[in-house]
This record gives sequence, structure tokens and C-alpha cells, in this order.
Amino acid sequence: MSGGGRCNFTNHYINPDDYISHNPHFCKSALTRYTQWDFIDLVKRHHIPFHEKTLGQLFCDHKSQDILNMLLRESEEACVAIRLNTQIEKIEKDSDHHFRVMTSRGNFHCQSLVIASGGLSIPTMGASPFGYKIAEQFGIKVWPTRAGLVPLTLHVEEKERLAVLSGVSVDSWVSHEHMGFRENTLFTHRGLSGPAILQISSYWQPGEAIVINMLPEIHAFSMLKSAKQSYPQKQLKSIIAEYLPKRVVDVFLNATLAEKKIATLSHQQLEEIANDLNAWSVKPNGTEGYRTAEVTLGGVDCDAISSKTMAALAIPGLFFIGEVLDVTGWLGGYNFQWAWSSGWAAGQAV
Ligand SMILES: Cc1cc2nc3c(=O)[nH]c(=O)nc-3n(C[C@H](O)[C@H](O)[C@H](O)COP(=O)(O)OP(=O)(O)OC[C@H]3O[C@@H](n4cnc5c(N)ncnc54)[C@H](O)[C@@H]3O)c2cc1C
Repeated sequence: MSGGGRCNFTNHYINPDDYISHNPHFCKSALTRYTQWDFIDLVKRHHIPFHEKTLGQLFCDHKSQDILNMLLRESEEACVAIRLNTQIEKIEKDSDHHFRVMTSRGNFHCQSLVIASGGLSIPTMGASPFGYKIAEQFGIKVWPTRAGLVPLTLHVEEKERLAVLSGVSVDSWVSHEHMGFRENTLFTHRGLSGPAILQISSYWQPGEAIVINMLPEIHAFSMLKSAKQSYPQKQLKSIIAEYLPKRVVDVFLNATLAEKKIATLSHQQLEEIANDLNAWSVKPNGTEGYRTAEVTLGGVDCDAISSKTMAALAIPGLFFIGEVLDVTGWLGGYNFQWAWSSGWAAGQAV
């Protein structure tokens, strides 16, 4: 399912600042020791064709399956035994510091136990709170979780007003407090989606507004003032339709004003219209939740984990890697890179 079926496996511009965590420094060590270039080398060694889409995002030319096959081949070379359809019933730690993992297919003993059970996103794919429960069992704090990189839903009134725009996408700058993203916003039958909205959803909290600039390259008020000078007889709607899809113009412009010649509109009216286009403030009423979220924010507290080895500081031999940890990346290959980097870091220590 990843990357629309082509697995956005990493990003040229991986940067620790592009990850959200209660401990923003935690991800730095692993990300700098096993980098995007290391993973790209691995992909190249396996002769998997790939390309950069936008903003440094690297995708397979063919299918995500290429990456899966690569991981399986690497596992085979390392003599990894994979046991599927096995229910883990209980985990205990013996007095000799060995773990006992009791499963539906017998018991296993190990010195190192790595929890890589991911987050809560897409439960139909097998997501479960397993990793969080293990952390709690061993007294490790788990930060509250919530859906990230997820479409936002709108209140009924706003949803009905925007219903005709379902399927329309606009180039945009979407911001919330100090964070902003320049990518597309997609209107859907439930609310708002598209990469800019998914990105901002990881920073948004219920009750807050986001601001959408639908003309990120244009200062709308200056553009309208100069159009008033140059084309006084033109209707307002036809001026704005040069920059935005017609359906968006119909919804966002007051119907009476839209028909008027721009010369008849006051500066204050133009300023209000420009503000709607450059800084449309909208208060979502929620997210689509884990059903469609790409990631889970929150999770196992990084302060309880070694940033060098991913081992729990108080429980020798117990490791947590990937999304189960309280580290969440931006859209664009950042989350897989965190899985590769943290997995590699644990791999050096087990
Ligand atoms: C639809 C979708 C598309 C995505 N696309 C991208 C993308 O293109 N690029 C990107 O960087 N990130 C993407 N992500 C995010 C990325 O997939 C995750 O961040 C990454 O896979 C996390 O790796 P992980 O190994 O920590 O966990 P996961 O890959 O989630 O693996 C955890 C595994 O543990 C299993 N599990 C859970 N509980 C149990 C249990 N009790 N017993 C046994 N097994 C269990 C799960 O079934 C799962 O197989 C996407 C996510 C989704 C949902």
C-alpha cells in the first residue's frame, strides 16, 4: 500500500527537524549513522529502479513489492527465520535476563527482544497496540497516540458548502502556527485531503484552525488592485478564474460580487476577497482517524530508550524500533527512513 503502491522508501532531504517527538533530539543519532544514502545504496545493490518524484521523495519505478523482495532476500542471507500467523500470548523476563516469548506455536527464548510492531494506522492491515502494551508491561511510559498524516473532516455546514468541489485540487500553502507546507490541497466529500493537508494534520489539534493560501505565488490584493486599474470593465469572477479552477471561484466568491465589474468594487471589498484567497481560515471538526491515517503520533517514550542502540535503558535486552516509538516523520519517505535507521541502530547492538 505504501506510496500509492510504489513505496516512497526514503527522501533525499532527510533532516531530524522534519520529525515530531516529545524528544526532538532522539532521532538524530540513528538518522545520521544510517542515512538515506545508505538505504539508497542498498536499493541500488539490488538493482531496483527508482526515481525522484517531488521534494526529494524517492519511489520505485515499478512496485512496492521490489522493496519487500529486497528485504526478504537480505533476511534470507542473514538466515532469518520468519514465522507468520503466530500469536504472541505472553512475554516474560527470566531471572538470568533472558526473555521468554510464549506464542501459539511454542515458546522462544532470547537475550535480545526487538519490538517492531508499528503504530495503530490502518487496523485492517494488522495494526495493533501490541508494542505499547509491552512497553507498559515493563514500566516504560507511552505518550498518548493520535492519527497523523490523515485527511481532515469538516463541520456539516462547511462540508455542504464545499461539496461541489469534491475531487478538485489546488496548489496551496497550508499553515498552522509556526508550521507550513507548500503542496496541493484536495477537496473531498468528507473534507480536506492532499499532501499539504496530510502534512499539517500531524501538527493540528482539535478545536484549532488552519490557514489555507490558495494563491501561494500571488499577493491577491495587489493583483486585484492592478486588475481594477488595467481591466476595470472585467467581471471579478473572470479575473480570479485566471488563477483558480472555476468551481473554486464559484464557491469562494460571494455570488453577487462575482458578477460585478471590478471597477465597481471598493478597496475594502477587494481586500476581503483577497483575504479569503490568500488566508482562508478553516476549523476542521476532526480527522478521518486511524482508518486512513498513514502514521501514529505519540508512542513509546524516547526518554526511556537509548538513542544509540534503541534499547530500553532500564530493561537490558529489550529494544523498540520504528513507528512504535514516539517519532513521527513528515510525508515523503521520512517514516520509512526512520524505520530503516532505527532498525539498523538496534541491529548493531542485539
Ligand atoms: C497506507 C500507508 C502508506 C504509507 N506509505 C508510506 C510511504 O510511502 N513512505 C513512508 O516513509 N512511510 C509510509 N507509511 C508509513 C510507514 O509504512 C510506517 O511508518 C513504517 O512501515 C513503520 O515501520 P515499522 O516497522 O515500525 O512498523 P510496520 O511497518 O507498521 O510493521 C509492524 C508490523 O507488526 C505487525 N503487528 C502489529 N501487532 C502485532 C501483533 N500483536 N502480533 C504480530 N504482529 C503484529 C503489523 O501487522 C505489521 O506487519 C505508510 C503508511 C500507511 C498506513
